[in-house]
Amino acid sequence: MNRSILKLLQKKLAASGDYAGAIDGISGPITNAAVESALRGRASSLPDGWAAWPAKRKAVAMLQLLCREGGFDTGPIDGWWGPQTQFAVDSLQTLDATGSAPPPWRDRPAARVNSNGWPPEDEAAMNAFFGPHGLPDGRSPGLTSVECPWTLRLAWNRSATTRRIGCNTKVADSLGRVLTRVWETYGETEIRRLRLDTYGGCYAARRKRGGTSWSTHAWAIALDWDPDNNQLRWGRDRATLARPEYDEWWSIWESEGWLSLGREKNFDWMHVQATAS
Ligand SMILES: [Zn+2]
Repeated sequence: MNRSILKLLQKKLAASGDYAGAIDGISGPITNAAVESALRGRASSLPDGWAAWPAKRKAVAMLQLLCREGGFDTGPIDGWWGPQTQFAVDSLQTLDATGSAPPPWRDRPAARVNSNGWPPEDEAAMNAFFGPHGLPDGRSPGLTSVECPWTLRLAWNRSATTRRIGCNTKVADSLGRVLTRVWETYGETEIRRLRLDTYGGCYAARRKRGGTSWSTHAWAIALDWDPDNNQLRWGRDRATLARPEYDEWWSIWESEGWLSLGREKNFDWMHVQATAS
């Protein structure tokens, strides 16, 4: 919980008459006592055992209750700071700062332009267009290394970085254009803030998770981004890549005909692939 969030918490507690200290974003005994008092007044909304939680968890639970009271879905009131709470608190901050809630998530993606003529997601069509998919025994599709304008941190090993993405040769030029436009649109600071530097990989000779057919990763025509915050089964209520600040990111991919499973099917928001359907 950062200082601006703590300030919001103090402000809300002051408004309800639970807190009389400074709105300084610094936690201490007065803030903790105010949280305690406000929670006691809402005990019926809290799970059993909440009274024994440490102060920090109680503060998160209080924020969750404030989000819920503000009309934002924060998930269960459990005092744990997860993506859903983050999302709800972001919305509450926007409401507090601007007087209105953030605009609703887009329900329909913008029309994609299949300017590169990507094939449909069909094994025969993809083999014909991209060449045979890779196999775990070592057969690999034709790969080209594309340079990313910013440094990527590997999602599965944050201490490792790379500037190169090994992708199917047929998508290399398009991927290069996408990355250049993202770089020009967002710049390094925003890319880092939005975790677009957290890279979940491209080529993998495997079948789909939760399916039997080959993953588009086996052709090296799919990339995953920030997987921890955009998990396979999460919808737009939880996946960070579904937020409005990523609209431009997705528009750039879609202008090259790439398909976001999140935008079109509302799951696997980490994933983008070069297919028509
Ligand atoms: Zn993927």
